[in-house]
Amino acid sequence: MAKNRDDDTNAASDGGNSGFRGRKVTTCSFCGKTSREVGPMVEGPSEVYICANCVDLCQNIFRQERRRVTSVSNALSEVPSPREINEFLDQYVIGQRIAKRSLSVAVHSHYKRLLHAETEHESDVELDKSNILFVGPTGSGKTLMARTLARILKVPFAIGDATTLTEAGYVGEDVENLLLKLLQAADYDVEAAQRGIIYIDEVDKVGKTSSNVSITRDVSGEGVQQSLLKMLEGTVANVPPQGGRKHPEQQYIQIDTRNILFICGGTFVGIEDVIRRRLGKTRIGFTAGSADTTPHTSQMERHELLSQVTAADIVEYGMIPELVGRLPVVSPLMPLDAEALAMILTEPKNALSRQFQHMFALEGAKLEFTEEALHAIAKKALERSTGARAQRAVMEEIMLDMMYELPDLDNEGAEYVIDADAVANRRTLKHTRKVRKESA
Ligand code: ADP
Repeated sequence: MAKNRDDDTNAASDGGNSGFRGRKVTTCSFCGKTSREVGPMVEGPSEVYICANCVDLCQNIFRQERRRVTSVSNALSEVPSPREINEFLDQYVIGQRIAKRSLSVAVHSHYKRLLHAETEHESDVELDKSNILFVGPTGSGKTLMARTLARILKVPFAIGDATTLTEAGYVGEDVENLLLKLLQAADYDVEAAQRGIIYIDEVDKVGKTSSNVSITRDVSGEGVQQSLLKMLEGTVANVPPQGGRKHPEQQYIQIDTRNILFICGGTFVGIEDVIRRRLGKTRIGFTAGSADTTPHTSQMERHELLSQVTAADIVEYGMIPELVGRLPVVSPLMPLDAEALAMILTEPKNALSRQFQHMFALEGAKLEFTEEALHAIAKKALERSTGARAQRAVMEEIMLDMMYELPDLDNEGAEYVIDADAVANRRTLKHTRKVRKESA
């Protein structure tokens, strides 16, 4: 590459109009630094020079621009149909039919409108956002659904937790930090971030009637709801690129939240009672007598009630109506039963059993789970009351000793079977190895 030369002849073979300059002190036409400071330069026609730093900078600018153009065309030239979105979700999310369906439609419409607005600049169609609210117990797939969605749409994705959010001035995380996370997920491509998806968990915990809001933060939670509201409505937020508190002297990146899709989620514990009360008032014969006494809600009744959740119930629960108004799609997710949990262990593309099977395959061994084992794992997970979340922990516990031993054994052609017994009593690999009958 560039070498200092003893004369000022050109290195390039273009007749002398460009090339590396040697001893003669040149000045970069872009940054103004001299070749003494920044080393050799490339010369263009008419005494124009560029240093290595400025070449790097230019390359970065071109790279960003190329990425911007491809991301715009990739993300928006082809919005998958609701059916395609649903089918994609099916590969990763078990059950949750109602949520998948309403999500597919809402998301398709959202990005279709966005595409419309971008391609027809003068269109007077107002973008009406379909932000989404997931209502469902822990570990039912709310986060998974939002994350999977971002994957199919190839848009940046960020997760936040409403309980860590505060109004500016309180101890905690500013709402802007959520936008920063999105920007980081977009590799600081502002345009891409502005079309991304943000999932905000535990929005039910900032309800104004909520009792579990810490005193170091906004006490009523309403202030947080107000700042969330602004972001959901669409605002141009000043995002500190380094995160943390805002300083007056800091430079901000401006992010327009108008086209960001917000998906909020919450467990809304006890929402069934609110729904039951409403139905009790309006539907004759629907457990009207027991409306206020909160009887033992059966699984069936919970499903039935949850599937009828409305925005009004969420307001009744304690979220400010303006915020609920900005979440026009309210989607229930059902608690997962043992059967669904067993399916989750094997069916999704990245199912846990498949992951362990892959690890064994890397060691040249085969791993199998019997039906009974899968049900036993599901049952164990169910006892922990955190939905499918507990499954990884249960599985890790069962597999720990085996994973520890696995690389030390001669596994060529070995087959291991996890049965109900191996789930109940942690087994070593030796005990799970399938003994093959010797061929005569
Ligand atoms: P939530 O946000 O509702 O509390 P998550 O989406 O974080 O729950 O679920 C935790 C994990 O449990 C997921 O990463 C996934 O592995 C598994 N999981 C939960 N629900 C489902 C589901 N319906 N289908 C497949 N896997 C699920």
